Amino acid sequence: MEPNDRRKPCFCMMQTALLLLVGISYNSVNRVLLCPIVGLNSQKILYTHSEMKVIDHISQSTKPLVSFEILPPLKGKGIQSLYNHLDPLMEFKPSFINVTYHRSEHVFKKKVDGTFEKVVVRKRPGTESICAAIMNKYNVDTVPHLICGGFGINETEDALINLNYLGIDNVLVLRGDAAKNEASFEPEPGGHKYASDLLKQVVNLNSGIYLEEELKNTTKTKFCIGVAGYPEKHFEAPNMDSDLQYLKQKVDAGADYIVTQMFFNNQKYFDFVDACRAIGITVPIIPGLKPIYTKKQLTVLPKVFHIDLPTDLSNAIMKCKDDTEVEKVGTEWLLTQSKELYKANVPVLHYYTLGRPNMVCDVMKAFL
Ligand SMILES: Cc1cc2nc3c(=O)[nH]c(=O)nc-3n(C[C@H](O)[C@H](O)[C@H](O)COP(=O)(O)OP(=O)(O)OC[C@H]3O[C@@H](n4cnc5c(N)ncnc54)[C@H](O)[C@@H]3O)c2cc1C
Repeated sequence: MEPNDRRKPCFCMMQTALLLLVGISYNSVNRVLLCPIVGLNSQKILYTHSEMKVIDHISQSTKPLVSFEILPPLKGKGIQSLYNHLDPLMEFKPSFINVTYHRSEHVFKKKVDGTFEKVVVRKRPGTESICAAIMNKYNVDTVPHLICGGFGINETEDALINLNYLGIDNVLVLRGDAAKNEASFEPEPGGHKYASDLLKQVVNLNSGIYLEEELKNTTKTKFCIGVAGYPEKHFEAPNMDSDLQYLKQKVDAGADYIVTQMFFNNQKYFDFVDACRAIGITVPIIPGLKPIYTKKQLTVLPKVFHIDLPTDLSNAIMKCKDDTEVEKVGTEWLLTQSKELYKANVPVLHYYTLGRPNMVCDVMKAFL
């Protein structure tokens, strides 16, 4: 089955029910789920699901792979909007798709009597279920992001157990940013303060160590763990050396690979990789790439992501009459970046497709 093969939901439900009736067998060597379905014209249906770890995808490939990162839809929008976003991208056979996590926020809502009440809202829920839905629909591995912010350690454990039950063996562990109403990041009471603390919880679960110490004969999870790295330094770090040492701490604690923050100057990525290697970080470092398509991004991206835009790029964008022209400049820039990184044999080209799958498609068509 091709990764972008579509299966009708009702068929999937029927198939699931039948699987339960007739049983399934899993060939872990070939990573193939063999489903002998009786009663459907007496045919045998072979349903392949890769269920591979990111690190295995990388080690089994001799050339750079492709992966995408998407956001859950805004609450109220159906999952179809996400499928519309992903459909054109699936042609390029991504090895995995990351789904970001968005913490709940406290907002103050005005009541009829004029007073305010504090309410909790989560604008983009559903990371774990979206991962499962994408795996089911496109037969591709998914990587849910997991953050410290807004999570107590018990909720984190429950989330990891859910992922394990769903057959998701990849996670990208992150601290998360400060909540909108906080000046700096505040962990939940008893929650994790740094991504490295969250990572240790995942590593413990991979060793069968759950929070309730009295649990006996526990199942070991097998999460492949990614962490974030910053070619232009994390904005809170006092300097690059300090940031790199904490990155090394995450790798030493069990991270299997690093995904970088977006960058628009490949040299920053190459220098970052060199600096990591120089302090003994040996895991794959996946470059994160983002298309630029509006003039507004010239100020928004540095403000939100604490990154620089090269002068050539900002000058070219400033000269554009409108955002249609900016999109052309952005596509050309992304293509040049991608070609150079591909040539440098990076492990994966990881695209933040956010709202512009067409640009990423155009770029990949031009060089893959
Ligand atoms: C690829 C990628 C994907 C992302 N996806 C999401 C997402 O889905 N949802 C979301 O909310 N955010 C996401 N983010 C944003 C991320 O959560 C923020 O950048 C956050 O501010 C830092 O997260 P981190 O995991 O790098 O934190 P950490 O590794 O914990 O580092 C945070 C800061 O603390 C420092 N530090 C680390 N450990 C220690 C220590 N022990 N003592 C003192 N200082 C320390 C570091 O140098 C750094 O300055 C993503 C970022 C990237 C690069």
